[in-house]
Amino acid sequence: MTSVDFNKHKKAKALKPNSRRPAKELCSECGLCDTYYIHYVKEACAFINQQIGELEEQTHRRSRDLDNANELYFGVHQDMMAARKQQPIEGAQWTGIVSSIAIEMLNRRLVEGVVCVQNTKEDRFQPMPVIARTPEEILAARVNKPTLSPNLSVLEQVEQSGMKRLLVIGVGCQIQALRAVEKQLGLEKLYVLGTPCVDNVTRAGLQKFLETTSRSPDTVVHYEFMQDFRVHFKHEDGSTETVPFFGLKTNQLKDVFAPSCMSCFDYVNSLADLVVGYMGAPFGWQWIVVRNDTGKEMLDLVQDQLDTQPVMSQGNRKEAVQQSIPAYDKGVTLPMWAAKLMGVVIERIGPKGLEYARFSIDSHFTRNYLYVKRNHPEQLEEHVPEFAKRIVGQYRLPEE
Ligand code: FAD
Ligand code: SF4
Repeated sequence: MTSVDFNKHKKAKALKPNSRRPAKELCSECGLCDTYYIHYVKEACAFINQQIGELEEQTHRRSRDLDNANELYFGVHQDMMAARKQQPIEGAQWTGIVSSIAIEMLNRRLVEGVVCVQNTKEDRFQPMPVIARTPEEILAARVNKPTLSPNLSVLEQVEQSGMKRLLVIGVGCQIQALRAVEKQLGLEKLYVLGTPCVDNVTRAGLQKFLETTSRSPDTVVHYEFMQDFRVHFKHEDGSTETVPFFGLKTNQLKDVFAPSCMSCFDYVNSLADLVVGYMGAPFGWQWIVVRNDTGKEMLDLVQDQLDTQPVMSQGNRKEAVQQSIPAYDKGVTLPMWAAKLMGVVIERIGPKGLEYARFSIDSHFTRNYLYVKRNHPEQLEEHVPEFAKRIVGQYRLPEE
């Protein structure tokens, strides 16, 4: 984008809420098209113009080194670690590192506002993006809304408010579009705090997932696919329910994930300054990827609130991934006793730490590669980034 079209976007019109989006069924509802920045959609949309390599250079001053095994998988970074808050924030998704960093940034006036997502009064899982200006508003956004969320829909308000220093919290597809329009936002400084993201769903899809998987879908307040190969549901009464991955009703759940998430290869949020997830860390710990100096500056703000340890890696994922490919493809569901047994065995001898993260990336990238190949073959070459092609290339896929 050149400086010539600077501000032209203000004449563009946001799309109406239920109208068809430019990315059609692949739209992840990132929110860009709910603003006049729709002007840039053809270049900016993660599902129309995949440009992770170029945007890595713009953001981190270099794209990832494909010959470095960790960068191939986890993107450009200067540091990785496992961490947890010494005093977790109650009700956060994990220990609340994301909310804590955002609060520190506001309190120390590094930023004037934080783009994050609260939920509506009526529905704890219905996303409501906001620009938080107080710690209370950030805390009200804690915990995942495990649904597609139009976080970028508040971008017009940022420009109109005259804010110059902003933190945006978001998942990969939102951040790719954000980076593409970053220079048009009129900011002095943009900080980006990302989380990994995979297998997201529409609100209706979430209901189907809860109803097919949990014993009490209406009381679930929080869930996560954990490193012990089980889904952990937390209920209103504080009780925890676990369901082994291998016992999920894959045949019924096959269509539940949003088409955008079935064609996404930015699981690790390559364009954020700092990424906070869990999958590269031991059970109970969070996983932190510092991508650049801005990310380091953000993490330094909460160092004294964290316990940390180096990342570790154990086991070998390859055979498990290879076996999961045809099993997922055919929608195989094991009887619950077998699923539990398999869960116990794989937890003991299966991949841990970074190897678990690679297991999850490999299983999702192979599945998604097949999805794009079958449903959008004309987009396969351009849409799948080189790093993902290399990762997928390690496995035998059906039909090959
Ligand atoms: P908290 O302090 O609880 O803060 C959570 C933050 O997430 C809030 O600021 C909120 O604004 C933001 N948020 C909530 N929902 C959304 C949404 N739908 N879109 C954008 N932003 C949102 N990590 C992994 O390592 N592997 C995974 O497979 C993985 N899958 C994820 C899938 C989804 C849909 C999401 C939203 C996150 C996923 N994560 C994953 C990240 C992980 O679950 C935690 O969000 C992360 O570790 C931060 O935990 P916390 O306690 O520090 O966050
Ligand atoms: Fe627009 Fe975002 Fe949907 Fe792409 S993913 S069409 S940018 S709302």
